[in-house]
Amino acid sequence: MSESAAEADGIDGESDYESLLSFMYLSPVGIVRSNRAGQIDMMNPLAAQLLMPIARAGNILNLFDGLASVAPELRNLVDSFGAPRGRICQNHRVYVTPDERRVSVLACSIIKINADMLMTVLTDISEEVAAERRARQTESWLSGIYATVNDFAFFTLDANGCIDTWNVSVSRMTGFTEADVIGQSLNRFYVPEEAAQHPLPEHMALTRDEGWHVEECWCETKGGRRYWAQILVSVLSEDDDDFSGYSVVIRDVTERKVTSDNLARLLSTDHLTGARNRAHFFETAEAEVARARRRDRPLSVVMFDADHFKRINDTAGHQAGDDVLKRIVAEAKGVLRASDMVARLGGEEFVLLLPGTTVGEAAVIAGRLRAAIHHAQFETAAGPQRVTISAGVSTLRGERMTVEGMLAAADRALYDAKRAGRNCVRIGSDDAGDAR
Ligand code: GH3
Ligand code: MG
Ligand code: MG
Repeated sequence: MSESAAEADGIDGESDYESLLSFMYLSPVGIVRSNRAGQIDMMNPLAAQLLMPIARAGNILNLFDGLASVAPELRNLVDSFGAPRGRICQNHRVYVTPDERRVSVLACSIIKINADMLMTVLTDISEEVAAERRARQTESWLSGIYATVNDFAFFTLDANGCIDTWNVSVSRMTGFTEADVIGQSLNRFYVPEEAAQHPLPEHMALTRDEGWHVEECWCETKGGRRYWAQILVSVLSEDDDDFSGYSVVIRDVTERKVTSDNLARLLSTDHLTGARNRAHFFETAEAEVARARRRDRPLSVVMFDADHFKRINDTAGHQAGDDVLKRIVAEAKGVLRASDMVARLGGEEFVLLLPGTTVGEAAVIAGRLRAAIHHAQFETAAGPQRVTISAGVSTLRGERMTVEGMLAAADRALYDAKRAGRNCVRIGSDDAGDAR
């Protein structure tokens, strides 16, 4: 603006210049005024500071000479810009390397004011570029994991617990496509029975409380293959406190589950007969007693013992005795439901644990087992053998609410059956009134 124009506008020329100087001095960006060839005639302190690493020896007199080593293209951009005024470049990135460890990046915008005046605006965008690079690295790191790490699926849920991202790891492990899962809830992956056992709102609430939560359950691939999954859900927050959803890692740990189940089975099984062992019976029975009391459901036991078993050993030999014990257990398994258990308490003495079963129902089961064994002929190492059993039944009831109490009553009933001539079932005297 010429002085006369300033006067004509009624603006004080000197204070106008001062405010321009103040602006230059305080500006958060570097500002350089030069002629078309890059000869600098004015530059604010920040520009001087930003150009310092390039200046090396002394001041920069010509912007394009100064930047020639790191941005030789700037001079060409200016030369080939034909318009009388306008933006020659905007946020053109100039990589300045003050030393080997640090890369500083300037965004450079050059504005042609008139035929021989350029204003150049310089901004330090090193931090933004570094963040961008970190984000790109994270992205390529993640896609490397998605693509190469087997047995894991990674994805995210929105704040409502609905699946909102998908990647190749999900389809590789589960077979589900993006269209199959986006917008669905996490239990899309579970086998249907498990979805009821592992209510999602509970899982999410635990996750929000602790920051993360792990569940294990049976899941199913799109093709119907069941796998034992470990599901780790963590809270995702974009800023420090801003809850934005969940990240999920599903891992196929079927092999570990099978190994530990096998080990558990081995530790809880009687080696000779394949029945549960004594220790496992007591452990399970305690839990069943607690459950029956909590839910006010019946629970019964049947104790049974092979009759005159000593004779089999004495006449057919110990090996034949062993074979008979195995066959007795096989017969017992034949009359039981999935929730029932047969355990070997010791020698030729066994117990049935029958959750949800009244004493009357237990007596029926015991009678069926007695009859099955009575009519069976067991092949043994020493030829076919016949055997009978005696059984005592008892149930969990008011004054007898422990495993030991129940077993003692069943043992007394078993003794009664032996005294009554064997090959029969007796119900504990306290329970008899309940049985119909
Ligand atoms: P009861 O009708 O009164 O029960 O007579 P029993 O002969 O069956 O009872 P007793 O307690 O006198 O004898 C049990 C026999 O069971 C003695 C023991 O050698 C045998 N026995 C215990 N455990 C095993 C085993 O693992 N294998 C074999 N072959 N025999 C066993
Ligand atoms: Mg016996
Ligand atoms: Mg015995």
